[in-house]
Amino acid sequence: MTGPSVRRLDERLIDKIAAGEVVERPASAVKELVENALDAGARAIDVTAEAGGTALIRVADDGHGIRTGELELAVQRHCTSKLLDAAGLSAILTMGFRGEALPSIGAVARLSVVSRHADGDAASITVEGGRVGPVEPAARAIGTTVEVRDLFFATPARLKFLKSDRSESSAVSDTVKRLALSAPHVAFTLTLNGRRQEFPAGSPRQRARDVLGAEFADEAIDLDIERHGVRLIGHLGLPTSGRASSQYTYAFVNNRVVRDKLIAQAMRAGYQDVMARDRHPVAVMWITLDPALVDVNVHPAKADVRFQDANAVRGLIVTAIRRALAEAPATASRTVSS
Ligand code: ADP
Ligand code: MG
Repeated sequence: MTGPSVRRLDERLIDKIAAGEVVERPASAVKELVENALDAGARAIDVTAEAGGTALIRVADDGHGIRTGELELAVQRHCTSKLLDAAGLSAILTMGFRGEALPSIGAVARLSVVSRHADGDAASITVEGGRVGPVEPAARAIGTTVEVRDLFFATPARLKFLKSDRSESSAVSDTVKRLALSAPHVAFTLTLNGRRQEFPAGSPRQRARDVLGAEFADEAIDLDIERHGVRLIGHLGLPTSGRASSQYTYAFVNNRVVRDKLIAQAMRAGYQDVMARDRHPVAVMWITLDPALVDVNVHPAKADVRFQDANAVRGLIVTAIRRALAEAPATASRTVSS
């Protein structure tokens, strides 16, 4: 009998498979592109999305740009300007480092990158369903604009699994807001289906106000401590403003968006004495520590982190929140028994 024989997968197919892991939905493409802009040192990032991001995603930045001679490499798998050697893996400062985002997006959508590096003129490149087009001259100020059209046109099965435009839009909005919270010093605009929101560069407190609303910011309790090389800056919503889900518990490690169980649980534990047991805090926490003490190379998209000393970090968060809440005069009288 002649069974199937073992052979190497076609490169384009490999890219499509990999793309499924990196780009689950429009919001994940937005996240990758904004992270690239942040990695490029952008001071201003403009995000545009239409039809939940399936018709169009555009991310424009004023970062350092890509050299014309490197444009072609930038859209290839495992090509990155960020991770130089294995030693670099243990102290990652940038958001990206796998060189997967652009090729993955290019494998499943119509991607165009227009960029100008300080060293030269602007140029553009396109990738459509994995087909890389020629590098062409373009016009642009220093920085990069990445446009993604017809996301998942090349993988119809994936397209079918997307939710309504409305819920994809809301995921895009949530993603941009999280990223905006992660980097208060960077100006963001988000134009979603023609509606524009601005987040001017400012302090963490100002950004929390712009993203989470004046009501939250006016009531929030500030926290800013440093212990054993770990700095915590937090804005803590009142225990009475707790929510049924943890969606509004925001945490950032070295300005990276994380959705880490340990941190979320620690933040909740900090509220334990003053908040009903079924509630989650509305709170923002920026955690800064030596990048060598935290591993971010856990999963491409899940945003987990591993601390070298997880118990210490957890303890620090719990104690800091507990103390801040206890010291805040407004909360003492609002203690809820759980
Ligand atoms: P990674 O971010 O993991 O390096 P990407 O596929 O996201 O991989 O990007 C590949 C490379 O393209 C980056 O390493 C970087 O050199 C370049 N690049 C992508 N986006 C930008 C941008 N907005 N500004 C400057 N360079 C960029
Ligand atoms: Mg990247």
